[in-house]
Amino acid sequence: MRLLLVEDNARLASLIREGLDRQGFAVDWCETVSGAEHALAITMYDLLLLDLGLPDGEGLDLVRGLRRRQDTMPILVLTARGGLDDRVVGLDAGADDYLVKPFQIPELAARCRALLRRPGASLGTELSAGNVTLHSAERSVKVSGEPVVATPREVDLLECLLRRAGHVVAKLAIEGALYSMDAEVTPNALEACVSRLRKRLATAGADVQITTVHGVGYALFAPIAAHG
Ligand code: CA
Repeated sequence: MRLLLVEDNARLASLIREGLDRQGFAVDWCETVSGAEHALAITMYDLLLLDLGLPDGEGLDLVRGLRRRQDTMPILVLTARGGLDDRVVGLDAGADDYLVKPFQIPELAARCRALLRRPGASLGTELSAGNVTLHSAERSVKVSGEPVVATPREVDLLECLLRRAGHVVAKLAIEGALYSMDAEVTPNALEACVSRLRKRLATAGADVQITTVHGVGYALFAPIAAHG
Protein backbone atom coordinates (compact mmCIF):
# COMPACT_ATOMS: atom_id res chain seq x y z
CA MET A 1 0.00 0.00 0.00
CA ARG A 2 1.26 3.41 -0.86
CA LEU A 3 0.27 6.16 1.55
CA LEU A 4 0.71 9.90 1.46
CA LEU A 5 1.32 11.46 4.87
CA VAL A 6 0.73 15.21 5.11
CA GLU A 7 2.06 16.36 8.49
CA ASP A 8 4.13 19.42 9.36
CA ASN A 9 5.47 18.03 12.65
CA ALA A 10 8.68 16.42 11.40
CA ARG A 11 9.22 14.30 14.51
CA LEU A 12 5.73 12.87 14.45
CA ALA A 13 5.97 12.34 10.71
CA SER A 14 9.16 10.34 11.05
CA LEU A 15 7.66 8.17 13.81
CA ILE A 16 4.63 7.48 11.65
CA ARG A 17 6.74 6.70 8.62
CA GLU A 18 9.02 4.32 10.49
CA GLY A 19 6.11 2.61 12.20
CA LEU A 20 4.01 2.14 9.10
CA ASP A 21 7.03 1.12 7.09
CA ARG A 22 7.58 -1.73 9.53
CA GLN A 23 3.96 -2.74 8.97
CA GLY A 24 4.55 -3.07 5.26
CA PHE A 25 3.20 0.28 4.06
CA ALA A 26 5.16 2.54 1.75
CA VAL A 27 4.77 6.10 3.06
CA ASP A 28 5.56 9.29 1.17
CA TRP A 29 5.68 12.43 3.27
CA CYS A 30 5.06 16.11 2.67
CA GLU A 31 4.61 19.01 5.06
CA THR A 32 2.34 21.42 3.25
CA VAL A 33 -0.93 21.65 1.33
CA SER A 34 0.93 22.62 -1.82
CA GLY A 35 3.39 19.74 -1.38
CA ALA A 36 0.45 17.37 -1.02
CA GLU A 37 -1.28 18.73 -4.11
CA HIS A 38 1.90 18.20 -6.08
CA ALA A 39 2.37 14.64 -4.80
CA LEU A 40 -1.29 13.76 -5.46
CA ALA A 41 -1.03 15.09 -8.99
CA ILE A 42 1.84 12.84 -9.95
CA THR A 43 1.31 9.68 -7.88
CA MET A 44 -1.58 7.28 -7.23
CA TYR A 45 -1.97 6.74 -3.51
CA ASP A 46 -4.11 4.16 -1.75
CA LEU A 47 -4.70 6.34 1.29
CA LEU A 48 -4.18 9.89 2.51
CA LEU A 49 -3.13 10.54 6.12
CA LEU A 50 -3.84 14.16 6.78
CA ASP A 51 -3.02 16.63 9.53
CA LEU A 52 -5.43 19.57 9.49
CA GLY A 53 -3.31 22.53 10.56
CA LEU A 54 -0.63 22.95 7.92
CA PRO A 55 1.81 25.84 7.40
CA ASP A 56 0.29 27.02 4.13
CA GLY A 57 -3.37 26.23 4.69
CA GLU A 58 -6.03 23.85 5.94
CA GLY A 59 -5.84 20.12 5.38
CA LEU A 60 -9.61 20.23 4.96
CA ASP A 61 -9.24 22.17 1.75
CA LEU A 62 -7.41 19.15 0.35
CA VAL A 63 -10.28 16.89 1.42
CA ARG A 64 -12.86 19.14 -0.20
CA GLY A 65 -10.83 19.46 -3.38
CA LEU A 66 -10.43 15.69 -3.76
CA ARG A 67 -14.11 15.00 -3.15
CA ARG A 68 -15.12 17.74 -5.57
CA ARG A 69 -13.11 15.92 -8.21
CA GLN A 70 -14.99 12.69 -7.30
CA ASP A 71 -11.77 11.22 -5.94
CA THR A 72 -12.75 8.39 -3.56
CA MET A 73 -9.30 7.86 -2.09
CA PRO A 74 -9.72 6.97 1.61
CA ILE A 75 -8.73 9.86 3.88
CA LEU A 76 -7.78 9.47 7.51
CA VAL A 77 -7.58 12.77 9.39
CA LEU A 78 -5.11 13.15 12.26
CA THR A 79 -6.51 15.62 14.78
CA ALA A 80 -5.37 17.18 18.03
CA ARG A 81 -6.85 15.89 21.27
CA GLY A 82 -10.20 17.39 22.08
CA GLY A 83 -10.68 18.85 18.64
CA LEU A 84 -14.23 17.58 18.39
CA ASP A 85 -15.17 20.27 15.93
CA ASP A 86 -12.22 19.28 13.77
CA ARG A 87 -13.48 15.73 13.63
CA VAL A 88 -17.04 16.63 12.75
CA VAL A 89 -15.97 19.17 10.17
CA GLY A 90 -13.43 16.69 8.80
CA LEU A 91 -16.00 13.95 8.32
CA ASP A 92 -18.49 16.44 6.89
CA ALA A 93 -15.89 17.58 4.39
CA GLY A 94 -15.53 14.01 3.16
CA ALA A 95 -12.83 12.40 5.29
CA ASP A 96 -13.46 8.72 6.03
CA ASP A 97 -12.13 8.48 9.55
CA TYR A 98 -10.12 10.38 12.12
CA LEU A 99 -7.57 9.50 14.77
CA VAL A 100 -6.88 11.69 17.78
CA LYS A 101 -3.26 12.52 18.62
CA PRO A 102 -1.37 11.08 20.37
CA PHE A 103 -2.01 7.62 18.99
CA GLN A 104 -0.15 4.34 18.88
CA ILE A 105 1.25 3.17 15.56
CA PRO A 106 -0.51 -0.22 15.69
CA GLU A 107 -3.83 1.58 16.01
CA LEU A 108 -3.00 3.86 13.11
CA ALA A 109 -1.98 0.85 11.03
CA ALA A 110 -5.19 -0.97 11.94
CA ARG A 111 -7.29 2.04 10.93
CA CYS A 112 -5.41 2.28 7.65
CA ARG A 113 -5.98 -1.38 6.91
CA ALA A 114 -9.68 -1.06 7.79
CA LEU A 115 -10.10 1.86 5.40
CA LEU A 116 -8.21 0.08 2.67
CA ARG A 117 -10.42 -2.97 2.97
CA ARG A 118 -13.72 -1.16 3.03
CA PRO A 119 -15.59 -2.18 -0.07
CA GLY A 120 -16.27 0.67 -2.41
CA ALA A 121 -13.98 3.04 -0.55
CA SER A 122 -11.13 2.47 -2.87
CA LEU A 123 -10.63 0.95 -6.25
CA GLY A 124 -7.56 -0.64 -4.78
CA THR A 125 -4.30 -1.40 -6.43
CA GLU A 126 -3.11 -4.36 -8.37
CA LEU A 127 0.19 -5.68 -7.12
CA SER A 128 2.03 -8.11 -9.26
CA ALA A 129 5.27 -10.02 -9.65
CA GLY A 130 5.87 -12.58 -12.36
CA ASN A 131 2.51 -14.15 -13.19
CA VAL A 132 1.08 -13.50 -9.71
CA THR A 133 -1.41 -10.67 -9.18
CA LEU A 134 -3.07 -9.51 -5.99
CA HIS A 135 -5.91 -7.01 -5.92
CA SER A 136 -5.57 -5.01 -2.72
CA ALA A 137 -9.23 -4.05 -2.33
CA GLU A 138 -10.83 -7.30 -3.51
CA ARG A 139 -8.27 -9.36 -1.58
CA SER A 140 -8.10 -11.69 -4.55
CA VAL A 141 -5.08 -13.55 -5.89
CA LYS A 142 -4.56 -14.71 -9.44
CA VAL A 143 -1.87 -16.73 -11.16
CA SER A 144 -1.73 -16.21 -14.92
CA GLY A 145 -5.17 -14.62 -14.63
CA GLU A 146 -6.73 -17.64 -12.91
CA PRO A 147 -8.15 -17.14 -9.40
CA VAL A 148 -6.30 -18.88 -6.58
CA VAL A 149 -8.09 -19.74 -3.34
CA ALA A 150 -6.16 -18.52 -0.28
CA THR A 151 -7.04 -17.71 3.32
CA PRO A 152 -7.22 -14.02 4.33
CA ARG A 153 -3.98 -14.42 6.27
CA GLU A 154 -2.21 -15.93 3.27
CA VAL A 155 -3.45 -13.04 1.15
CA ASP A 156 -2.11 -10.57 3.75
CA LEU A 157 1.21 -12.38 3.74
CA LEU A 158 1.41 -12.34 -0.04
CA GLU A 159 0.57 -8.63 -0.03
CA CYS A 160 3.39 -7.87 2.42
CA LEU A 161 5.86 -9.72 0.22
CA LEU A 162 4.57 -8.31 -3.08
CA ARG A 163 4.80 -4.74 -1.79
CA ARG A 164 8.49 -5.30 -1.19
CA ALA A 165 9.12 -7.73 -4.02
CA GLY A 166 12.84 -8.28 -4.44
CA HIS A 167 13.55 -7.18 -0.86
CA VAL A 168 13.73 -9.03 2.42
CA VAL A 169 10.75 -8.30 4.65
CA ALA A 170 11.53 -8.78 8.35
CA LYS A 171 9.67 -11.54 10.15
CA LEU A 172 8.55 -9.08 12.81
CA ALA A 173 7.12 -6.72 10.22
CA ILE A 174 5.14 -9.52 8.62
CA GLU A 175 3.86 -10.75 11.98
CA GLY A 176 2.83 -7.20 12.83
CA ALA A 177 0.80 -7.00 9.66
CA LEU A 178 -0.76 -10.46 9.96
CA TYR A 179 -1.62 -10.86 13.58
CA SER A 180 -3.35 -8.45 15.93
CA MET A 181 -1.37 -7.40 18.98
CA ASP A 182 -3.31 -9.56 21.42
CA ALA A 183 -3.28 -12.64 19.23
CA GLU A 184 -1.23 -15.52 20.51
CA VAL A 185 1.27 -16.19 17.80
CA THR A 186 3.22 -19.41 18.08
CA PRO A 187 6.84 -19.20 16.95
CA ASN A 188 6.24 -21.21 13.81
CA ALA A 189 2.80 -19.82 12.87
CA LEU A 190 4.29 -17.53 10.25
CA GLU A 191 6.55 -20.27 8.95
CA ALA A 192 3.53 -22.54 8.51
CA CYS A 193 1.61 -19.78 6.73
CA VAL A 194 4.55 -19.17 4.38
CA SER A 195 4.78 -22.84 3.56
CA ARG A 196 1.03 -23.07 2.81
CA LEU A 197 1.25 -20.02 0.57
CA ARG A 198 4.27 -21.44 -1.26
CA LYS A 199 2.40 -24.67 -1.86
CA ARG A 200 -0.70 -22.89 -3.17
CA LEU A 201 1.31 -20.72 -5.52
CA ALA A 202 3.38 -23.64 -6.78
CA THR A 203 0.25 -25.73 -7.41
CA ALA A 204 -1.25 -22.85 -9.39
CA GLY A 205 1.90 -22.61 -11.51
CA ALA A 206 3.23 -19.34 -10.10
CA ASP A 207 6.68 -18.35 -11.32
CA VAL A 208 7.69 -16.34 -8.24
CA GLN A 209 9.94 -17.61 -5.47
CA ILE A 210 9.41 -17.00 -1.76
CA THR A 211 12.84 -17.27 -0.19
CA THR A 212 13.55 -17.74 3.51
CA VAL A 213 16.33 -15.52 4.82
CA HIS A 214 17.18 -17.36 8.02
CA GLY A 215 16.97 -15.28 11.16
CA VAL A 216 15.72 -12.26 9.21
CA GLY A 217 12.56 -12.81 7.21
CA TYR A 218 11.27 -13.61 3.77
CA ALA A 219 11.62 -12.24 0.28
CA LEU A 220 9.57 -12.74 -2.84
CA PHE A 221 11.38 -12.76 -6.14
CA ALA A 222 9.88 -12.47 -9.58
CA PRO A 223 11.54 -14.44 -12.38
CA ILE A 224 14.48 -12.53 -13.87
CA ALA A 225 12.81 -12.27 -17.26
CA ALA A 226 9.99 -10.22 -15.72
CA HIS A 227 12.44 -7.37 -15.15
CA GLY A 228 13.70 -7.35 -18.69
CA1 CA B 1 0.01 20.62 12.14
